[in-house]
Amino acid sequence: MHKRRTQLKRHKGVPTRNPLRVAILGGLEEVGRNMTIVEYKNDIVIIDMGLQFPEEDMPGIDYIIPNVSYLKSKAKNIRGVIITHGHYDHIGAIPHLIAELGNPIIYTLPFTAAIIRKRQEDFKSLPLKLQEVKLDDKFNLGRFQIEFFRVNHNIPDSMAVVIHTPEGAVAHTGDWKFDYAPIDGLVAEFAKMVRLGERGVLALLGDSTNAGQPGHQLSERDIGETLKNIFVSAKGRIIVGTFSSLFPA
Ligand SMILES: [Zn+2]
Repeated sequence: MHKRRTQLKRHKGVPTRNPLRVAILGGLEEVGRNMTIVEYKNDIVIIDMGLQFPEEDMPGIDYIIPNVSYLKSKAKNIRGVIITHGHYDHIGAIPHLIAELGNPIIYTLPFTAAIIRKRQEDFKSLPLKLQEVKLDDKFNLGRFQIEFFRVNHNIPDSMAVVIHTPEGAVAHTGDWKFDYAPIDGLVAEFAKMVRLGERGVLALLGDSTNAGQPGHQLSERDIGETLKNIFVSAKGRIIVGTFSSLFPA
């Protein structure tokens, strides 16, 4: 009688557990409270820290912030927070969460930094550690190498973040569209995207409103023309509503 083999055969090439984690704490399949973490072993980088405005069926709720319970025991591993742009659904949770996450350094472009600084005046929480970056900067946060490229959105200083991890590059676009005639003349940095693509990207995380619909987004310049025509032909008072942290780019 054959002795039954109980031991599993070890195969060569069976992958070990991948230590790279990308987790979306808010902003996926919903509008608002954008927050993503990239974690590799004991290094964590956070991208965006936004709030969400309540729906009509949430009386008494001022706003909703991401659930960061996963990060609380890991605050010492957070190497930095990178903010892609200045909309409240990307920066709005900073005053509420940054202290309990160990007040890590926040890296962002100058215009976004100015909005964050201004908003912080409304809160009595601890002083922020804000570090302004330039689009061509490259630096390390723990095991990660960080770089950026410009994207178009409807607010100036919108950027994508590339996090080079030991497993490959994770690119996070923030909110984006391609505008070939933006008001500030600063088109998306296509050459950087091409170079990045040639080197290889493990994961691309992108957020573009109505991306599932065919066609192309209007340029902000066209929207300006449309508004101008409405203003010119209006026969009475004009009341304009807009997203509270919107600065047309
Ligand atoms: Zn946005």
